[in-house]
Amino acid sequence: MECFEMGPIRPPSEAGSILLRLTRNCPWNRCAFCHSYKGQKFSMRTIGEIKSDIDNIARTADELRKAPGTDVVTNGSVPPEYSAQVAFWMRFGMKSIFLQDADSMSMQTADLVEVLNYAREKFPSVKRITTYSRAKSVSRKGPEELAEIRAAGLDRIHIGMESGSDRVLELISKGATRKDMVDAGRKAIAAGFELSEYFMPGIGGAGMSEENARESAAVLNEVNPTFIRIRSVVPLPDTPLFELMTAGKWTPLSEEGRVSELRLFIESLEGITSTVASDHIMNLLEEVGGKLPEDREKMTGVIDRFLAMEIDDRESFIVGRRLGRYRNLSDLDGAADIEDVKVRLKQACGSLEEGIMQLLRNYI
Ligand code: SF4
Repeated sequence: MECFEMGPIRPPSEAGSILLRLTRNCPWNRCAFCHSYKGQKFSMRTIGEIKSDIDNIARTADELRKAPGTDVVTNGSVPPEYSAQVAFWMRFGMKSIFLQDADSMSMQTADLVEVLNYAREKFPSVKRITTYSRAKSVSRKGPEELAEIRAAGLDRIHIGMESGSDRVLELISKGATRKDMVDAGRKAIAAGFELSEYFMPGIGGAGMSEENARESAAVLNEVNPTFIRIRSVVPLPDTPLFELMTAGKWTPLSEEGRVSELRLFIESLEGITSTVASDHIMNLLEEVGGKLPEDREKMTGVIDRFLAMEIDDRESFIVGRRLGRYRNLSDLDGAADIEDVKVRLKQACGSLEEGIMQLLRNYI
């Protein structure tokens, strides 16, 4: 028995949110690095289906309130995996909702507004509703439509920019140009949304590293998003990016190369007040975060400390981080087991870089 639908992913910042599925999968589904919805067909859900999910979540919460302290609805009317989701949300205070899947702004404005109004009415404790969207879909909406959606209670939009370089965007089949990124970002900000823009150091490969850093920063300088979130590139075997790599058309950067690109990117952010967040477990340097402009030196300082480390220490930190043992540079402790893994990765994979790539692929 399915109680409400849940899609596969959400941003880490939405860990405390209930997931409300408005559409299934991604209408584009062609970005070269992305495997989230591979092989899955995009579809819109009906307003009736979405409202029924909202009702079922509300009913589950009511049932759980009758038996405080348990994550399971005891009368058997709600399957345990669904009641556990709602119980988890209740523990976070039922304060936020994340609208799935990849592109809620592809919905008709009137439908999205109806869903938002219904969710707000059913869950008055909710303080924040957020969603992923493609830049193209935001860009297609007029200012009045965006204002309507904002007024109905959508607070934040997450846009996967990845790069601000047209050459890189074309290489990775992003299906949007630099102009689309600027247009969507500025429209979202003008309509009063909080905006998260994602940047991928290294997505242009070794050949376009400097261009990727400078042009991505240039787009964000025009937008001034609320958040700039850093994401890591991992060429997974079932993706077009992997094929580009094996065909010699995309050369991955080393960990140090990606970190250097991130430094140039941060240096190139000018005249904006965004908060930079390295808020993903796959990112090497989680400490690179803060508010611009005042925290710029703090962020580049972390990068400089990493790049100035002896190569042996740097490798140990990379391995410890990839094993989930280290979060910050100061966590480096010379642990014997990490040194051992380092040696074995080099032996088994031919180089540490390849060994790390395999660790990351396995992780995903
Ligand atoms: S738009 Fe987003 S979800 Fe869709 S293929 Fe691209 S990265 Fe993946």
